[in-house]
Amino acid sequence: MRVPLYLRPRLEPPLDALLDTPHLLHTLVDALGSPLNVLLPDRVAENAERFLAVYRKHHLAGRVTFAHKANGANSLLRRLAAADPAAVGVDVASLGELQHALASGFTPDRITATGPKDPAFLWLAARTGVTVHPDSITELGQLADLVRRFALPRVAVLPRLSGFDAATGAGATGVRVRSRRSRFGTPLTEAEALLDALDRHRDAVEPVGVAYHLDTTGLAEKAVALEQCVGFLDALRARGRDPRVLDIGGGFGVGYVDDAAQWDRYTTELGNAVLGTRPALTWRGHGYGLRNEGGTLRGALALYPAHRPDAGPGYLDELLTTPAPATGRPPATLLLEHLYDLSTQPGRALVDQCGAVLARVLDVTPSDSGDLLVRLAMNAGDMSLEEHGVLVDPVLLPRPGDSPPADSPSGDTTPADSPPDAGPVGVHLFGNLCLEADLITRRTVFLPRRPRPGDLLAFANTAGYAMDFHAHRAQRQPVARTVAVVRDGGSWRWCLDEEYWPTTHPGGTA
Ligand SMILES: *Cc1c(COP(=O)(O)O)cnc(C)c1O
Repeated sequence: MRVPLYLRPRLEPPLDALLDTPHLLHTLVDALGSPLNVLLPDRVAENAERFLAVYRKHHLAGRVTFAHKANGANSLLRRLAAADPAAVGVDVASLGELQHALASGFTPDRITATGPKDPAFLWLAARTGVTVHPDSITELGQLADLVRRFALPRVAVLPRLSGFDAATGAGATGVRVRSRRSRFGTPLTEAEALLDALDRHRDAVEPVGVAYHLDTTGLAEKAVALEQCVGFLDALRARGRDPRVLDIGGGFGVGYVDDAAQWDRYTTELGNAVLGTRPALTWRGHGYGLRNEGGTLRGALALYPAHRPDAGPGYLDELLTTPAPATGRPPATLLLEHLYDLSTQPGRALVDQCGAVLARVLDVTPSDSGDLLVRLAMNAGDMSLEEHGVLVDPVLLPRPGDSPPADSPSGDTTPADSPPDAGPVGVHLFGNLCLEADLITRRTVFLPRRPRPGDLLAFANTAGYAMDFHAHRAQRQPVARTVAVVRDGGSWRWCLDEEYWPTTHPGGTA
């Protein structure tokens, strides 16, 4: 057996404790089927509190707003609705998400509407009094027209800006920082036209601030955007408006892999595998963006930086502390001096440690390469970390008290001379679709022992985008059910996600 290259998941309470309860998890999958999504709604409220602690550290007022698109579950939204209404909100990016937020207990003053908007979405947002983030001058005009046509109250707006661009550092040491192009937001070069439009639509919309969202982990890019948004707020003030909010969007990120050394070793060895100087680490030599050009490693690793010691609230703290390029002042100071409130819209980071996807092992067969082929009762749409370039190991949960495995019809063809459970194994994880491409990951996954049919694999920390975002009904395979689990003293209580309300669960109070 080759030396295993593990990517151990970062597990914090209560997710670590939950994965230590194989009896409960096996019972849940026995009852509700595989795959099964398990959520920990109390942790999402705790995460919001961690973000707010960073606000307090910098003496900043404002709200943490959950980007709903990261997870569609009821329990997470209802739990957040029960949190401090002045400090915790939700950001919706479709008509359905807006309806869900309203039905989950969020009042419109706690809801922001972003993303591509159709007339129905805009109308319901305006009718209920949600704050809208217009993506363009055109969309601002459409919103203003709706307000006039239906005689609606003035709508609070946070126009989204994009296309930030600044030189950082002085003279020859200067580096140009330009934000990547986005389909969303008015480019800063059109700021004057946007200010004119806001004046023109004064009767219908009220600019309560400005917003950006950059889908990047780059601190410098975000510091530039933040500083230039403060400049835009000042320009609004100069026109006699009274903006109060700077919304800096999401993208605070999650650290998936616990151990920096494991991550470094893995990515180094992946390069070596692509070069052919070590055995393959992926299905059919997939390189995750790397390629071998005549013995030289080319391309770039197209992976999420899975080990991130500074993700989430820590990243916000760093952003607020890092001097902004033009003024040289930390963003926290800029906001404080101008008395602007801070809004954040974390998606992935707010559901960090909030859940896992469980899947049943269906069969285990040896392959020519020596790796085992493991087929799971799930497909690539049910657990889409791979889609997001996140590489991290599942946790093997053997069936409790398992005696020798029952023979599965497809045959667990362990040769008689190799003890079934001895030591680590390399496995390829396949899904339940009749499709060559249905791989749960293209990576060879190392498990501490050979899995058996009936065991579970727990894909931890999958609440952000990896749980329901890509789920589908291809081949009429079941879509995962979702359960909410809360700790009740020393034990656990669970219910179907749709049955979860803050009132019925002991953990569910603000
Ligand atoms: C997706 C999105 C977010 C959340 O991004 P994360 O990377 O999940 O934090 C926030 N704001 C807007 C406008 C978005 O589109």
